Amino acid sequence: MTDDANKPTPQPFQTEVARLLHLMVHAVYTDKEIFLRELISNASDACDKLRYEAIANPDLIADASAGGEFAVTLHPDADGGWLEIIDNGIGMSSQEMAENLGTIARSGTKAFLDNLPEQPDGANLIGQFGVGFYSAFMVADHIEVISRKAGSDEVNVWISDGASGFTLATADEAEASRVPRGTIVRLKLKDDAKVFVEPDHIERVVRTYSDHILFPVMLAVGNEEPRQLNRASALWQRSKSEVSAEDYTEAYRTMTGLFDEPAVTVHYKAEGRQSYAVLLFVPEQPPFDLFDAERRGRIKLYVRRVYITDDAEMLPGYLRFVRGVVDSEDVPLNISREMLQNNPMVAQIRSALTKRMLGDFAKLAEKEPETYLKIWNAFGSVLKEGIYEDTARREELLKLARFQTTAGDEHRSLAEYVADLKENQTEIYYLAGQDLARLQASPQLESAKAKGIEVLLLTDPIDHYWTTLGLDFDGKPLKSLSQGDVDLSSVNPAENAENVEAEKSEGAKNEDDGTAAGDGFITMLKETLGEKVSDVRASKRLVDSAVCLVAPGMGPDLGLEKILSQRQQAIGLKPVLEVNTRHALVKAIAAEAAKSDAADFSDLAGLLLDQAFVLDGQTPEDPAAFATRMNKVMLQRLGG
Ligand code: ADP
Ligand code: MG
Repeated sequence: MTDDANKPTPQPFQTEVARLLHLMVHAVYTDKEIFLRELISNASDACDKLRYEAIANPDLIADASAGGEFAVTLHPDADGGWLEIIDNGIGMSSQEMAENLGTIARSGTKAFLDNLPEQPDGANLIGQFGVGFYSAFMVADHIEVISRKAGSDEVNVWISDGASGFTLATADEAEASRVPRGTIVRLKLKDDAKVFVEPDHIERVVRTYSDHILFPVMLAVGNEEPRQLNRASALWQRSKSEVSAEDYTEAYRTMTGLFDEPAVTVHYKAEGRQSYAVLLFVPEQPPFDLFDAERRGRIKLYVRRVYITDDAEMLPGYLRFVRGVVDSEDVPLNISREMLQNNPMVAQIRSALTKRMLGDFAKLAEKEPETYLKIWNAFGSVLKEGIYEDTARREELLKLARFQTTAGDEHRSLAEYVADLKENQTEIYYLAGQDLARLQASPQLESAKAKGIEVLLLTDPIDHYWTTLGLDFDGKPLKSLSQGDVDLSSVNPAENAENVEAEKSEGAKNEDDGTAAGDGFITMLKETLGEKVSDVRASKRLVDSAVCLVAPGMGPDLGLEKILSQRQQAIGLKPVLEVNTRHALVKAIAAEAAKSDAADFSDLAGLLLDQAFVLDGQTPEDPAAFATRMNKVMLQRLGG
């Protein structure tokens, strides 16, 4: 080997890494000790990976002298102020070190960092992201990683001070001989982190955070015989009574790299057709990449304590926020990761897990509605994807759904909605749109409001999709108030009368003298507006507003049409203009239409349609034409 090959090559960190490091090093983050959890968990992952590789290629671990039993060893050096984390796992090639310890491959990272608020809140939010290897720079200002990829003769050294980049070089002989297999992470501890050379301190931290790591975590001080600090038994294999709430929390944090508490913990063993142990968690907070297009799940599949993959999609996409472990006794160990997707045993476990999760949610909703609501608020928009795609469990998911409605601030279930139906009400009404405030002010709600009819207010993009399925709940069809002809006149007739009375005594806002603009006027409007609308009709849903837009009876809801048009997939159906024929303005225009010339009428008709677009949160179809019409009317008013 030439000297040149030995010369360290400097490389910059990817921008995102540099930013994350800067944030972390300057964070007043108090839980600095979590760095040890992160490095031990990486070391354990590395052992997991090699054990899996060795199933197909036993030579990788055959030579006991070159590595021995899988273990993670902590080696403090009080004199020099170093702490080493040593594993005999899979190791990394030079290129892998450059990639894994120099970039962040997760999509959405940049967006996440861009949206982080300034300190000190940013430090807490990093917890949602999972800090990983880089957290070591909270306690060290110089890190060396010496690694040998399993089966390779080459040993490489990665060195960084955590500022702008790192160097990579081939290890010298002394270094190489220290790493027969796996990786040594060497931390030169900062002055304020020197406690991490103290055996008692290390032991406490390991017991707290890493007790359930599957491999032995050994402490090797000086010439003393190394001793084991953790229990090294799979937490999920223990019985529930043996596991404390803290154990669960720490297992959750190690598995996920997150900092919050699990909101729900599901731990059981299945026996019967198949045997497997399950430990699943629902986080408190949504992770930053929840809506990533990949919809990747993160359940780790083990077979008889051997880690296989976290890619086996053990739960459907709409439960991708659930984290944890499934450990099967029956799936063949030597199955390739690719074959797992179609393995019938895996499929059966998948379906049992899904059933269990949804069942547990239902129980929680009943017993602890407030806890359940938190989960729904964090993950409901994901669960609703299931209403759309999981036909078999649609009914169950509809029961789990909670909605904001016009009935108050409480979230309501469909069962509650149906229990409170008004007299003669046979349908469940909803309105879907971008945000609550705008929905609440929507003209399409007016007659329902006036009659005290509850309306579901749907604000998640996914709502536009599952509502197109024409579903019903408890035999009551769901019906959009922004689509088709809605006639609420037969619902709740008593309330109706009261409100009309109330309105009259208030002084009749719309100066309703009992007359209404007639059919002739509607026909005129339709002719004038022509192609711009698919229909014009007298509205049964408006009370205060003059006009509103609704979607034609067939085809997508207006909200969906908007989403589709942003993606250039719009069907292009023109909206229906509904006109409140009892509204003072409409009546005045109708009266004017009867006498005035056609040119002026087309301006007034155009302005009515423009207004309907604005009320719907859109811009008028032709903004320039709108401005011209508006100016004309204003000038008239000003006598110009
Ligand atoms: P994560 O563990 O979530 O992937 P980390 O930042 O902790 O993120 O680690 C980044 C990557 O570096 C790991 O995915 C792994 O590929 C690699 N890595 C880190 N530590 C080790 C180790 N001790 N042995 C082998 N690979 C490691
Ligand atoms: Mg990690």
